[in-house]
Amino acid sequence: MHGLDTETLEMTLAAISDFAEREFTDERLIELDEADEYPADLIRRMCSEELGIQLLFIAEEHDGMGGSAYDVYRVCERMARIDLGVATSVLATFLGSDPILMGGTPEQQHHWMSRIANEGLLMAYGATEAEAGSDLGSLKTVAVPVAEDGEVVGYRITGQKQWISNGAVADLYSILANTEKGPTWFILEKGVEGFSAAAPEHKHGIRLSNTAALYLDDVFVGADALVGTELGQGLVQAQQVFGYTRLMVAAFGLGGGWEALDRAIAYSKERIQAGGPLSEKQGYTHKLIVPHALRLEAGRAYIEETAERIDEGTHGHLNTEGAIAKYIATEAGNDAADAAIQALGGYGYTHDYMVEKIKRDVRITTIYEGTSEIMEMTIAR
Ligand SMILES: Cc1cc2nc3c(=O)[nH]c(=O)nc-3n(C[C@H](O)[C@H](O)[C@H](O)COP(=O)(O)OP(=O)(O)OC[C@H]3O[C@@H](n4cnc5c(N)ncnc54)[C@H](O)[C@@H]3O)c2cc1C
Repeated sequence: MHGLDTETLEMTLAAISDFAEREFTDERLIELDEADEYPADLIRRMCSEELGIQLLFIAEEHDGMGGSAYDVYRVCERMARIDLGVATSVLATFLGSDPILMGGTPEQQHHWMSRIANEGLLMAYGATEAEAGSDLGSLKTVAVPVAEDGEVVGYRITGQKQWISNGAVADLYSILANTEKGPTWFILEKGVEGFSAAAPEHKHGIRLSNTAALYLDDVFVGADALVGTELGQGLVQAQQVFGYTRLMVAAFGLGGGWEALDRAIAYSKERIQAGGPLSEKQGYTHKLIVPHALRLEAGRAYIEETAERIDEGTHGHLNTEGAIAKYIATEAGNDAADAAIQALGGYGYTHDYMVEKIKRDVRITTIYEGTSEIMEMTIAR
């Protein structure tokens, strides 16, 4: 995968930063977080002609920009530095479209990916259920074939999904359901009869993202809603992209961690205690800044190496490497954000300072897209 040339990547990153400077000031972010509000209009604008972030994730033959894993990591890190809830809202479309990319027929891929590119459709990835989180194999949602004259004309899907990012705001959903041959992905459009979303969850962090349960009550979808042509391929298709998607969440940990740490560094240069700035006190820098900077940068080196190997396309799915990258960078991101609160002292502990919000936001990165314990299990295998 070639990806973007350096100039285009830098222009894309600059456009994201410009948009954020205008629309996501610290004051606005803290207000939205406090109000627990999903900024629907801003997310739509980011996925429209105005910014077109979704294009990065989409191949050129489907009207996208064809970003490489390296490009996507850079953009995910930049987005995470702005706000992890916003980053999650954008990434959810990418995650939601993965089953189509991995298992869809060429027609399905072109149909849906070009619609996401051109119409800015928002997607949600509906895998998790109340009793099937880390262990997706125990999912209970079922899809039953509907036959007419001996031919399957569609499926009736019944079940519930839990913790779905973009759950109540997406235009399009990928839903994992059990069939007679095992878990299988289906595509659903919003508004279909029997399909609804719960009220948004009241979360610890990433409060600018919409997370909701989904209800499927005997929802009928046509035969073409089956992703691909074969039942029972759902978990295999999900596994195929973990190397890639976990790298993206690793970049979220990196971005969140660095954003908090940079704020602590700036603060340490201005805050005078005992006759000098905190930045000149070794007991402060060598405890609260340096160890975190080096862990984050070690994480970055591993992310970059894995992204480059994914882009070379000759190393398989790189699930172990994706798990290592996610584990290192998200655990480091959490610790860095925690240290940043300590570095700001009492100020860091208030809602008025961004480090407090970042610490709550970055917490999700060791949970979603596979918990740290599941990363360890993957690595052990
Ligand atoms: C804000 C948010 C957004 C999300 N977005 C999405 C989304 O868009 N789509 C989607 O499908 N899902 C989404 N999720 C779900 C997320 O991926 C799951 O919460 C996660 O995979 C963990 O599953 P669980 O919550 O059921 O926890 P469990 O699997 O019950 O785990 C509970 C604890 O047990 C540990 N554990 C579980 N199994 C093992 C094991 N075998 N060995 C050792 N330890 C183990 C876990 O690490 C964890 O610490 C989201 C979740 C949140 C909170």
